Amino acid sequence: MNKLTAIIAGGGIGGLACAAALAQRGWAVTVYERQEELRAVGAGIYIWENGLRVLEALGAFDAATKNAFHGTHFEQRDNHGDIIDSAPIAGGNRLLTVPRSQLLAALASVCKKAGVEIVTNAEVTGASSRGELFFAGGGSHQADLAVGVDGVWSKVRESLGLERSHEQTVEGALRTMVSAAAGDFRANDVGKYIECWNGPRRFLVTPVNQEQTYLALTCPDSDRDACVVPVNKRVWSESFPQWTHLIERIGEFPINWGVYSVTRCHAWSAGRTAIVGDAAHAQTPNLGQGGGMAMQNGLAMAVALESVNNRRDIPDALEAWEKGERDIVEHCQRWASLYGEVTYLPDDVRTRTIRGAMSDPWVAGQVFRAANHAPVGTVPPG
Ligand SMILES: Cc1cc2nc3c(=O)[nH]c(=O)nc-3n(C[C@H](O)[C@H](O)[C@H](O)COP(=O)(O)OP(=O)(O)OC[C@H]3O[C@@H](n4cnc5c(N)ncnc54)[C@H](O)[C@@H]3O)c2cc1C
Repeated sequence: MNKLTAIIAGGGIGGLACAAALAQRGWAVTVYERQEELRAVGAGIYIWENGLRVLEALGAFDAATKNAFHGTHFEQRDNHGDIIDSAPIAGGNRLLTVPRSQLLAALASVCKKAGVEIVTNAEVTGASSRGELFFAGGGSHQADLAVGVDGVWSKVRESLGLERSHEQTVEGALRTMVSAAAGDFRANDVGKYIECWNGPRRFLVTPVNQEQTYLALTCPDSDRDACVVPVNKRVWSESFPQWTHLIERIGEFPINWGVYSVTRCHAWSAGRTAIVGDAAHAQTPNLGQGGGMAMQNGLAMAVALESVNNRRDIPDALEAWEKGERDIVEHCQRWASLYGEVTYLPDDVRTRTIRGAMSDPWVAGQVFRAANHAPVGTVPPG
């Protein structure tokens, strides 16, 4: 029997995870990426237990997490540098942080091993529900299945009319990496992911390996002194004096500013064409789960298509996939947005709110629900 064929728009985290998962199940897969090479935007990335399990299922775990930082606590601190909450990263529920480039390379490597063809300099301009992708400069390709994993401004989503809403937040982030040096962390900081607040400004310090530390500086886009590139080191140092030594090192690595998108869709597929990842369900980064959800959902789609032998059965399998995955994805979107609202609270109210919320087992359960979720197609540890 001929292999079923899939064409995928977008060679980011979600597109490569989806491509690998399909190819490992016998599909002939081609990925079309508009950049001239596969390139990660951003600096570091948090990968929670659910995402780590997907990487294990795809065979990408070892390469993706080589030398990764494995912290013991996720800690929030107030405008005085005092601890608001310090959540232990419990035994079976891992959180690792890695450079994005390393994650992308690991996914590209498993794609290659599974026979995925990756075509760069290929910009997709739209799609049809018949498994077709259209390209800039004319031309199209058709397969049994087409998938748009082309990010928050997805052309595939737009051309299929799947979007319900695309909200852009007021808050945004400057993300970069700085080199790590001995003595960067005081005794009380070692082994932690640290999120510091001062007014609506937030400074997130995340080691990713022995050599590099990932910094995310977030604020509303109306905070013109703080959201500029090159980074205004003076204002960030004034807000977070404890981290001046890291702020001073900003500039060694590219930096970008961007607000966040939250995308919601009527449906994640039309006919034989689907959307996955930020194209379908972008969320604010407050839970560090957008990439995890993109990989998780790409794998779940491939699993849902395992029973399909011909293209006629694909639309029903895609509907079943969406039905199974929507709840966890939308939960995650809601709670990520909810967390972002603490940005606008006065400092002392934010402290009381986070402390009160995180000491409530129900709230903590909601916040970590996605991390604790066992993704379809993965094997529980042990
Ligand atoms: C500040 C910030 C911090 C974040 N931190 C985390 C975190 O710690 N953990 C986490 O899990 N998630 C995090 N996320 C979210 C995560 O980055 C995204 O959810 C994830 O990258 C989505 O993957 P994707 O493959 O769907 O989209 P993308 O990563 O955006 O990839 C889309 C790909 O498609 C390509 N493309 C776009 N348009 C076209 C086109 N027309 N034709 C062909 N190719 C195209 C792009 O070049 C890109 O390669 C964060 C997001 C932000 C903004």
